[in-house]
Amino acid sequence: MTRCDKCSYESFYFQRYSGMHLCQKHFKEDVERKIRSTIRKKKIKKGDKIAVALSGGKDSSVALYSFNNIFKNWKNLEIVAITIDEGISGYRDRAIENSRLLTKRLDIDQRIVSFKEYFGYTTDEIASLERDKGICSFCGVLRRKLLNEVALEENATVLVTGHNLNDESETVLLNIIKGDIERLARFSPSKVQEGLIPRLKPLSSIPEEEVILYAQLEDLPTKKERCPYIDEAMRFEIRQIIKNLEEKHPGTRYAIMKSFYELEDVLRAKYSKKNLGKCKICGSPCIGEICQPCNLLSSIKKKI
Ligand code: SF4
Ligand SMILES: [Zn+2]
Ligand SMILES: [Zn+2]
Repeated sequence: MTRCDKCSYESFYFQRYSGMHLCQKHFKEDVERKIRSTIRKKKIKKGDKIAVALSGGKDSSVALYSFNNIFKNWKNLEIVAITIDEGISGYRDRAIENSRLLTKRLDIDQRIVSFKEYFGYTTDEIASLERDKGICSFCGVLRRKLLNEVALEENATVLVTGHNLNDESETVLLNIIKGDIERLARFSPSKVQEGLIPRLKPLSSIPEEEVILYAQLEDLPTKKERCPYIDEAMRFEIRQIIKNLEEKHPGTRYAIMKSFYELEDVLRAKYSKKNLGKCKICGSPCIGEICQPCNLLSSIKKKI
């Protein structure tokens, strides 16, 4: 029997990148310690209102659960979960049900908002009109806008999302490979922009497989439903490359993020001068005259 490196109990998980065998208790402690450390850097303060983007999948469920565990005894700190229903039949219903069960279990207020009620279209309807374009580019942009709008309506001061270490390292490498360094700089905004709620990603230093294990241990939803429109050709290639590298060289994902954090100040210095303007249609902060979501919505209207 292999024993935990921190106590004499049976090992439950081998953490290849650290070389540690961990029992269940020490595995959970390790995950929670990393989450606390990420949150601490963002300086959550009393009086804050935290909006958590809750899809009902494993990542956002663990983000909400752990965030609530850390802060539930704080007075003057409110948490609200925001769930977006993109309108994808057969895919979102189960995740939304999971999100309802979790917010009920944790006694947290939840807002469920749909694309249909806010933008007038479901993702299914957009997909039937925009056959020649990837639907994710519409859905992802509109979801980000809606999350920000609802968080503003809720007077939230911080927006928590469930991105894990795998997501973060893929995004960094993807932007480098595409040569899109300005987008990489936006990944770590240099200043708080009026109208944009600052983001916090408590799982950004937790590998996906540890998020899944943690969710199983805490009896949270873990099943990842596959969206029928998923279109992530290049991201999928990057994911495979990083996965192969991680297997041969454990710690690659952390190394990618460490490099990014080292470059953050340089990127901020170069790209921080840009002040966002206001979209002429919806008033949201944007580069240029019309924001991306409004551009996409007007391209849909033209096709109806
Ligand atoms: S995979 Fe694409 S279409 Fe499906 S929910 Fe995600 S962003 Fe939307
Ligand atoms: Zn132990
Ligand atoms: Zn706009």
